[in-house]
Amino acid sequence: MMYVEGHRKDFDDWLAAGNTKWGWSDVKRYYEKAVRPVGNATHPKGYVVLNENYSDEKLAIGNVIFNATAELGLPRLGKLENGIEIGTMYLPVTARVGRRMSTGKVHLAKVSGRPNLHVIKNAHVRKIHFERGGKVATKVTFVLRGVHELSAEVRKEVVLSAGAIDSPKLLLLSGLGPRKHLQDLRIPVVRDLAVGANLRDHVITTIFFRLPNNTLVEPRHHSLRPTDAIYDYLIHNRGNMSGIPSGLTSFLNTKGDSTVPDIEFHYNLYRNENRQLFQGHMARRDEKIIASISQHFKDSHLINFMLILAKPRSVGELRLRSVNYLDTPRMYSNYLDDPEDIATMLRGIRFLERLERTKIMRALNATLLHIPCDECDSYKYRSDAYWHCYIKYMGEGGFHHVGTVKMGPKRDRDACVNPRLLLYGVQNLRVADASIMPDVPRANTNAPAIMIGERAAVFIKEDWNECSELVEPK
Ligand SMILES: Cc1cc2nc3c(=O)[nH]c(=O)nc-3n(C[C@H](O)[C@H](O)[C@H](O)COP(=O)(O)OP(=O)(O)OC[C@H]3O[C@@H](n4cnc5c(N)ncnc54)[C@H](O)[C@@H]3O)c2cc1C
Repeated sequence: MMYVEGHRKDFDDWLAAGNTKWGWSDVKRYYEKAVRPVGNATHPKGYVVLNENYSDEKLAIGNVIFNATAELGLPRLGKLENGIEIGTMYLPVTARVGRRMSTGKVHLAKVSGRPNLHVIKNAHVRKIHFERGGKVATKVTFVLRGVHELSAEVRKEVVLSAGAIDSPKLLLLSGLGPRKHLQDLRIPVVRDLAVGANLRDHVITTIFFRLPNNTLVEPRHHSLRPTDAIYDYLIHNRGNMSGIPSGLTSFLNTKGDSTVPDIEFHYNLYRNENRQLFQGHMARRDEKIIASISQHFKDSHLINFMLILAKPRSVGELRLRSVNYLDTPRMYSNYLDDPEDIATMLRGIRFLERLERTKIMRALNATLLHIPCDECDSYKYRSDAYWHCYIKYMGEGGFHHVGTVKMGPKRDRDACVNPRLLLYGVQNLRVADASIMPDVPRANTNAPAIMIGERAAVFIKEDWNECSELVEPK
């Protein structure tokens, strides 16, 4: 996964909203704690593995994009030391020798031998139980291998980290959520809280440029044929399958009035010899659209521009579908509900139109691809109305869901956890995952989720009086 910390303002806004000690200068230290190799195997500070090696594919397209975006005023950036900035860069990825390195692999696997840690795999948590008028969590029920229902007694506290979709789902199933919603489902109300409100996510629209065949250097180190790519990956840990398709990224402010980005771009190259990558990416699209884009492979490569709205204003909601813990919840994302979101995306597209006119793009004869779609083609091509339609038609979620168990001060009616991540009204239930983010940061959310885990670890140690001075990062 791409690893990126968000913008300083993201966290300063959290602080300004009343989240004590969540400003940039507070959280930065916890980001550093996760990536600096300063620990050892039994106390692995600095466990996140970051890799900045990119395949030839990325480098080939990189030179084009760096030049084109520089012409429009975006500087080429190296390593980001202080959060994201306006410019174009390769983002580091959490990988080692071509393999994804999740926190499960690089952190949990290292500490799983600890006597105070017991990991149970294939355990699906179904419910958290409460006593003393809902003030104390006493038991967690889980289903092992889909068959055996077991419970774990709570001695100190429960730390819920099921992510921005499953954490609220589990809380709702356990009776913590909006009273009316719980009553509609006949779930006994433990706490009336705004669990599931404030669903936030980035939104993405995909744009393609076609690049005539002979314009790119051939990759040096790996083959483009799918079978060879599999061989390359399995035997040598290299090639197309060993990396994420994105990584080359720009952040920009489309109004040009601030250094805080409102749009993020990821760029992917789909060579005509390697259209499987394209087909994988477009799998959920209309067949007519896929066929129409695919025909350009006969004489062109394609560059895919993922236009990402960095700070959406639209807010959604997550609700239970039923009381069955195996059912997925309902997500009402409300993407692009706020007109300002569409306006920002439109400015992002206008940036791409300017990119099309840069010297390097013209020299390469690279052109923005018109994708036929009946809904939008009734508008004049490239008019505001056309792009408004296109943004929605080609729009999709960013897989960066956050906010459904919102952190905030007590006065915030949507807040579910306090700035020490403890659920309001319950003494011993903490939430530590992307769901607590009050708003989505202006970049991808994995690194912020890891940072939240680091913060939670310190809160837990402090609250149980366990050597806080040793764990607080300097
Ligand atoms: C396809 C995809 C690509 C992404 N790419 C990137 C990227 O490149 N860079 C980036 O920064 N972000 C990326 N993200 C976002 C990133 O993965 C998330 O923001 C991040 O993982 C959130 O961490 P989390 O701990 O909140 O939740 P998760 O990582 O989702 O962890 C929650 C865990 O809880 C488990 N769980 C859930 N419910 C239960 C239950 N009832 N019982 C037991 N266990 C349960 C889940 O299996 C999961 O292991 C991507 C997301 C997706 C979906």
